[in-house]
Amino acid sequence: MQDNVTDRIIKELPKPVVGLIQTAGRAAAKSGAAIYMVGGIVRDLLLGRQSKDIDIMVEGDALDIARSMSVILANKPIVHKRFGTATFKLNDYRVDLATCRSEIYDAPGSLPKVKPGTIEQDLFRRDFTVNAMAIRISQKRFGELIDLYGGRQDLENKLIRILHEKSFIDDATRIMRSVRYEQRLDFKLESKTARLLRRDLDMLDTISGDRLRHEVILWLSETQPAKILKRAARLGVLSKLHPALSWDPRLAKAFRDANRMSIDFPPVQLYLALLVYNLDKRQLGEFLERLNIKGGELDEVARQTVSLKIDQESLDYSPLQPSEIYQKLQCYKTAAIQANCLCTPSRDVRINLKLYLDKLRFVRTRLNGRELKAMGVLPGKKMGIILDRLLTARLDGEVKTKADEQRLALQLLRDL
Ligand code: ATP
Repeated sequence: MQDNVTDRIIKELPKPVVGLIQTAGRAAAKSGAAIYMVGGIVRDLLLGRQSKDIDIMVEGDALDIARSMSVILANKPIVHKRFGTATFKLNDYRVDLATCRSEIYDAPGSLPKVKPGTIEQDLFRRDFTVNAMAIRISQKRFGELIDLYGGRQDLENKLIRILHEKSFIDDATRIMRSVRYEQRLDFKLESKTARLLRRDLDMLDTISGDRLRHEVILWLSETQPAKILKRAARLGVLSKLHPALSWDPRLAKAFRDANRMSIDFPPVQLYLALLVYNLDKRQLGEFLERLNIKGGELDEVARQTVSLKIDQESLDYSPLQPSEIYQKLQCYKTAAIQANCLCTPSRDVRINLKLYLDKLRFVRTRLNGRELKAMGVLPGKKMGIILDRLLTARLDGEVKTKADEQRLALQLLRDL
């Protein structure tokens, strides 16, 4: 007798989403295809955790079913013909339809050869038992749980377990995924899985930079990345990404403080900056190359973090004129400054960085270019100099009002 988890589905998902799933079931029945919810949504339904990503797999043509659903629901999915997938958006839920697949790994770490398959084959290609369950959503057998590998038991025992001995060899990103789920869910790696993870650590060398970067970003996008990094360090995963990466109580504190901080940029930037703070320039270059991080925001933030750390000496004075602090920091990304502020051992550096972050970076002159033009300043080099001097005066408290700025501007105009 199979478990039926219909009550879970009804309890955890909003009515319109349940309606969409039932429509998928009916559409599949019409074309004689079996259809299932799979993976993370099944895990989260059984745990009573909210999840807004719903994966549906079809033993048949997923696009065909998506087309029928689209007519019934008057909801047009986004279709990726090349991958044979369709995505319905409903409120803030995302429902993906795809065809069940079987996979063969030719070489460790390479992407597998994929062909259409059965639900059993589709579940066998998955990473962990808790992610390898399915729920039938066909009309007649709606809610039946398919649990071929003991995923439900592992959920109860709070265990992350791979499906077979070669799992980490086939795809070592699973090593990184295992730590992420373990820490997110407050689970433990099952003992044999932990042993195989340690045995297969070198398999991370077979993974491309792009795939490693993706997994690192997923780590850092979790609500508690510090837990993941700490555990990854203990297991030897972190040092496989770069031998100089490590975890220590100071970094732990920096992450805790970062959590309490309100920031106006993606937190992943700050977390990456903290992670690389202790590296020197050469080590950072190697790490960024390994993860194929180049030329984007993350690259810039990481490099600036280490450059500013090296440059901290110039901020290790008290008091410094606010305009001096501004001059030194204005070309740095906020996340890089934030990371230095959280990690620096020097009190004076911290105070100066904090002053910039909390106050100086928001300071603006009252007069703008248009108003200076009206006062007779022609746009060009001179205007640039005057605006700079006005800002310096404002930062250092030498001007308070707009009239003060006007007076200073006229004087500068005469002197320049
Ligand atoms: P979440 O989005 O909550 O992190 P998820 O389980 O939905 O969790 P995805 O990364 O969206 O995670 O992957 C969907 C499913 O695909 C997983 O549940 C898992 O079954 C499978 N999967 C993803 N990556 C791998 C992998 N590297 N090896 C095997 N199976 C994988």
